[in-house]
Amino acid sequence: MIHPDHENAADRAAGRSWGMLVGGEIVQARTGATYAGVDPTTGAALPAVPDGDEFDVELAYEAASAAAPGWAAISPVERGRLVRRIGAVLAEHADELAILDALDLGSPLAAMRLDVLRATESLESFGGWGLNLTGEVIPASTEHLHFTQRRPYGVVARILPFNHPIMFAGSKIAAPLVAGNTVILKPAHQTPLSALRMGELLADVLPPGVLNIVTGGAVPGAALARHPGIARIAFIGSEATGRAIQRAAAEVAVKHVSLELGGKNAMIVLPDADLDAAAESAVQGMNLTASTGQSCGSTSRLLVHRSCADELVDAVVAGFAALRCGDPFDPATDVGPLVSEQQYRKVHELLTSARGEGATFATGGGRPAGLDAGWFVEPTVLTGVSPRMRVANEEIFGPVLSVLTVDDAEQALMLANAVDYGLTGAVWTRDLSSAHRLAARLDAGFVWVNGSSRHFPGVPYGGWKASGIGSEESLDELLSFTRLKAVTVFNALA
Ligand code: NAD
Repeated sequence: MIHPDHENAADRAAGRSWGMLVGGEIVQARTGATYAGVDPTTGAALPAVPDGDEFDVELAYEAASAAAPGWAAISPVERGRLVRRIGAVLAEHADELAILDALDLGSPLAAMRLDVLRATESLESFGGWGLNLTGEVIPASTEHLHFTQRRPYGVVARILPFNHPIMFAGSKIAAPLVAGNTVILKPAHQTPLSALRMGELLADVLPPGVLNIVTGGAVPGAALARHPGIARIAFIGSEATGRAIQRAAAEVAVKHVSLELGGKNAMIVLPDADLDAAAESAVQGMNLTASTGQSCGSTSRLLVHRSCADELVDAVVAGFAALRCGDPFDPATDVGPLVSEQQYRKVHELLTSARGEGATFATGGGRPAGLDAGWFVEPTVLTGVSPRMRVANEEIFGPVLSVLTVDDAEQALMLANAVDYGLTGAVWTRDLSSAHRLAARLDAGFVWVNGSSRHFPGVPYGGWKASGIGSEESLDELLSFTRLKAVTVFNALA
């Protein structure tokens, strides 16, 4: 049954209109087109939002382009102050924003509140980093002065995935803004509400055109990628879309495209590990409560030494089975539904393939009892997974953990690195040199030793191989929104 708070939230969201932020105004799509998402918990229609197209992207570009020189002329410290102000505004509206994400995404309200907090922390961090936009003086000669400067690109596009709506909408505007760019933000088709509300909240905080928010699906996304005036595209989403964006961008101009893509991340557990802690971390590493496992960084392959596999798997299965699926507005709920029918079908397709290939369902795999509506899948642990199975190689983006047993650390490392992706990885061992050796040899951009799941503002997050190009959540992200210029003043030192 639908939770009463859910019903109230859906009624409130339906009882008002939703518009995009373009040039400081809240506007509808030029064509008047709208689309309505589907509440993943109930299957009911969500409020209609603007279905933007190329023309809306063009209007957003004109506004962002007009605002760019003025924004770049403000000092980085002052821009940072405004970015921190954005964080404060989001924090003041944390409950409201979390409620919209719980409606759109279906993840529990408590987890969505944490996502607002993560956005505000990120805005706070980047807001304080303006003075890191430094150049260098280079002693390349004794008579001339050689120095470098960091300049903004102008208009930057930020294209987002569905799995952490307000966390990404809030945190991902921080670096480009502090670096002196104006931004066009496109939230995911499935989860636009919190970004649209953020646009309303920020309309009077930032000068008009500095932040623009366009909703819709692939059409406005592709229009941003193809826009000849947008030289910097920062994309978070699937590998297939990332490659499409690279291709589309390359058709029209030479652009700086950064990609934060998918993962098929390994957690290696060696026999000397603290197995209780490793089991707990394996459950946490799946990000089940935050996003029903729909997380790029989830450690969805557990590579465990044969000698401790039974003990570890028993504890992990108990952890999965203890999680309660349900309505995101029910405080007793640990895990919500998947975001959409498409995700639900994809997860089931891979589960069916795992069954056909001989994997064992140690727990889960079905629909949770009593939840007949919505895109719910029980948290699932698959054992007896072999490296050739599809579930051992493809990103599932759902609540499914595949367990593979290994005979030694070398085999674990070989399997960990055998997939196309290379986003995160985790190593559990008490032996310091094993830990360092494995961490160094994992083909992944972000590694935990004796941990999982957590990010830390300032620590670069980014993928290798098919998981992407570039690093975020750090000074590297800030600098990636600048272009380096070298200046030589002849005879300045002569
Ligand atoms: P997606 O690629 O389907 O969509 C992402 C965004 O791209 C959406 O805003 C979508 O509307 C837009 N888009 C779709 N087609 C486009 C096109 N042709 N041109 C331009 N834009 C287009 O991804 P998703 O399903 O929303 O998100 C899930 C994926 O995101 C997973 O693979 C996940 O691993 C990845 N992800 C990665 C990170 C990371 O930091 N590495 C973080 C979160 C999610």
